[in-house]
Amino acid sequence: MERVHNQLDELRSEGLYKTERTLVSPQGGTVTVLDGQAVLNFCANNYLGMADDPRLVQAANAAMTRYGYGMASVRFICGTTELHQELERETAEFLGTEASITFAACFDANGAVFEPLLGERDAIVSDTLNHASIIDGIRLSKAARYRYRTRDLDDLDRVVSEAVADGAETVMIATDGVFSMDGFIADLSGMCDIADRHDALVMVDDCHATGFVGPGGRGTPALHGVVDRVDILTGTFGKALGGGMGGFIAARTEVVELMRQRARPYLFSNALAPGLVGGAIAGLRLVAEADERRAQLHRNARRFREGMSTAGFDLGGAGHPIIPVMIGDAATAAEMADRLLERGIYVIAFSYPVVPKDTARIRTQMNAAHTDEDIDRTVAAFAAIGSEMGLVA
Ligand SMILES: *Cc1c(COP(=O)(O)O)cnc(C)c1O
Repeated sequence: MERVHNQLDELRSEGLYKTERTLVSPQGGTVTVLDGQAVLNFCANNYLGMADDPRLVQAANAAMTRYGYGMASVRFICGTTELHQELERETAEFLGTEASITFAACFDANGAVFEPLLGERDAIVSDTLNHASIIDGIRLSKAARYRYRTRDLDDLDRVVSEAVADGAETVMIATDGVFSMDGFIADLSGMCDIADRHDALVMVDDCHATGFVGPGGRGTPALHGVVDRVDILTGTFGKALGGGMGGFIAARTEVVELMRQRARPYLFSNALAPGLVGGAIAGLRLVAEADERRAQLHRNARRFREGMSTAGFDLGGAGHPIIPVMIGDAATAAEMADRLLERGIYVIAFSYPVVPKDTARIRTQMNAAHTDEDIDRTVAAFAAIGSEMGLVA
């Protein structure tokens, strides 16, 4: 216990201790926090504003009424309903892959995907900024590990060559489709070219893209026209598709078949609850018809970016509704987020070790539920506080 106390003290003294703000409303463009204040929410992964959509709530309720609260089984024993199979069919169909398999979360999908496919004679080449779950999944496989500088295609080419020269039998390149701390979209077309040159495979985690990036919201492979050249796609039902829970791997039929036989988070963990499955199916169907929501989301992102640039802020990312407001100093970023909350804007500051030292930022995430007025009010609040704090003129 002494060690635990010391660790906690250390986190507090380094300013890394995280507290949780309590919501007393559904997730939405506006949320109510514990003191009863309604605040504009700019930090959810609720890109299409579907988390509180009555159609999703109704579909989840209907699924629960029909199939009960829980499965109390892993999939292969007695945890597979026709609804689970429907979700996997529709997920694959939406993404344009042959098949898909669902997990309790994308964290589990990424934890599952590498180990059955790659052994000690193989290599995985990973972007330095990849999500924690990709890093953990790679650790769980016996393949040799290589890293390349984030989104640097020359470095990727060099590192893949190195893996090949070291004798790797199969090389897999692993990347986030969108880097969530920075709001950048990976250049999958360039990556697939490199993969082709070296006969390597490509794995993409599209959590911050499925539903709203690319034509029809079909993700970064669709955006770059490389759906058929990406070998493994993973993603979540917990973000734009309604924000419930569940993850998936979408790939060729045989790869999905092998996952059902060998993926440990699939074999040894409970099947998704029917309510979540019903909600996810409704989410997928809604997203297929959500051109107007996607247009609103991207309009909001453009409006915010323009307003904030004009106000003099340094913004990260490009072409994505994650828009980091770069501040630099961790304490300054945290103070700014607190002051924004006082003005009814809910945003979060990110600092080391989540992002590199001295690159603290307020990561804003746009949402189709926001109006022009919401965006303008938020830009005005940033500008006023930024000028009070001497960050912008
Ligand atoms: C959110 C996220 C995950 C985890 O997804 P869950 O379904 O919430 O477990 C994995 N990878 C990336 C890139 C993410 O952003």
